[in-house]
Amino acid sequence: MKYLGKYKVLLALIVFGVAVSAQVGVGNRRVADEEPRSKMFDASRLLQDVQTLSSDDMEGRSADRPAMQKARAYVERRLRESGLEPIRQKFEIPSRTSTTVLEGINFVGRIKGRKKAEKYIVITAHYDHVGVRNGETYNGADDNASGTAALFAIASYFKKHQPDHSLIFAAFDAEEKGLVGSRYFVANLPVKKESILLNINMDMISRNDKGELYATGTFQNPQLKPVLEAVQKKAAVKLLLGHDDPKLGRDDWTNQSDQGSFNREKIPFIYFGVEDHKDYHRPTDDFANIQPEFYVRAVETIIAAARAFDKLDF
Ligand SMILES: [Zn+2]
Repeated sequence: MKYLGKYKVLLALIVFGVAVSAQVGVGNRRVADEEPRSKMFDASRLLQDVQTLSSDDMEGRSADRPAMQKARAYVERRLRESGLEPIRQKFEIPSRTSTTVLEGINFVGRIKGRKKAEKYIVITAHYDHVGVRNGETYNGADDNASGTAALFAIASYFKKHQPDHSLIFAAFDAEEKGLVGSRYFVANLPVKKESILLNINMDMISRNDKGELYATGTFQNPQLKPVLEAVQKKAAVKLLLGHDDPKLGRDDWTNQSDQGSFNREKIPFIYFGVEDHKDYHRPTDDFANIQPEFYVRAVETIIAAARAFDKLDF
């Protein structure tokens, strides 16, 4: 892990910094000092959001757990603090095993565009995970507290840097139960379908041992390829294109997260995510196992891509 390599140098600087600040009696940010920083958003806040959403307290963010109320309240509050006025989109989650019908809630907010306000880019991430199984809590830090926290960071970025097109931000529920929240969203769009130019979906973006982040969807949407190739050149992560050819079978990710619901409605999409890791859908998908440096650079790369898409004349 590259992050650990830098750690010793940083540690020396921190010890020195703390000694100095102790002498002059200011500063108390030892933890923050060793974290990655970003010029685009508050990286420390981003990491805090992942940590909170993936804490045992949230019981794996599943509609069948009482703590889901807590998770939903947190998502709603953070969207509001990011400058949105989220509305709740409620729907029923059909159960495979019982007759009890659970309620799902998507949170949806907007930022108005400066030049082409009547055209939309929809930025999405699912906030639910798989809950508690056999007494073990599945915290879902990478899947998908990482994408949810990124949604807050990206909303606050565009609140400060007004886009040309209007943006819709949606935090989806019940992805893990079969893309239920996003299916409901595309069947009950808050704007005309024709006015939606693109869906940008994020699901699992906080760790990869090779430093690779995938952008999936240029197979179906080749017109977006040159944009991503330009972003690729400046990206601080290894941005790769692929996992979208139906010939790949299980390795075709097109319908494996919420972008699939948009694709089914013929709405262009780009999905950002990493390849599966050893903690995927295991109780060990914990905050301690995400890679802060990679994660922060991945979110910066997604913002750069969103900016580039926003500048397109669709
Ligand atoms: Zn996921």
